[in-house]
Amino acid sequence: MPSGELIFISGPSGVGKSTVCLHLSRELPAEFALSATTRQPSAQDQYGKRYEFVDQVEFKRRIETNEFLEYANVFGNWYGTLRRPVEIALSAGRLVLLEIDVHGGRQIAAAFPDAIGVFILPPSLPELERRLKCRGRDEPEVIRRRLDEAQREMEFARSFNAYRCMVVNENLDQTVSDIVAFIRAAQAAKLPVCRTNPVK
Ligand code: 5GP
Repeated sequence: MPSGELIFISGPSGVGKSTVCLHLSRELPAEFALSATTRQPSAQDQYGKRYEFVDQVEFKRRIETNEFLEYANVFGNWYGTLRRPVEIALSAGRLVLLEIDVHGGRQIAAAFPDAIGVFILPPSLPELERRLKCRGRDEPEVIRRRLDEAQREMEFARSFNAYRCMVVNENLDQTVSDIVAFIRAAQAAKLPVCRTNPVK
């Protein structure tokens, strides 16, 4: 049975993860995994990553019936990758892209040792702060909490080996092409070795 590839991308809020993932999904090409979340829908949800919006009771039910590949609480809301669509896509040999937080990343790395983990870093914390302010989405207090959380996430990501690729997102095109090159190299490294001169 053909087996596709699982790619999970993490990084702090404001680092440009969603834009990078959108470009990756087109270039590789890869399909976004579907997640369920208890957060409210927003206007940005029509671009890129897809969500199914559920309430807490339904989310808990799905945890109990093992419907998630991984799940985590991020900024007070629950998020989980739906298991079944990912399994179907992988068994059809497709590339699947997960845009998830670091706790989800750790669960995926443990369950799928061959999955490719990519962590996106900001050029610096002041630059991350500038990007969060430019988005115009959050109050100053929320931005401060996002920056604290960003530092915790970066430390957490460095503390275990789930992320084989760490990229500083200075320039979008460069970041996307670096990640594509890394993924292609990881895929090539898994190809069976061609022996032209078999040992007798
Ligand atoms: P947002 O609500 O802005 O779409 O996502 C907020 C955070 O939740 C981001 O860091 C995103 O990567 C993470 N996230 C989104 N979907 C999932 C998921 O299915 N699982 C986990 N663990 N994190 C997710």
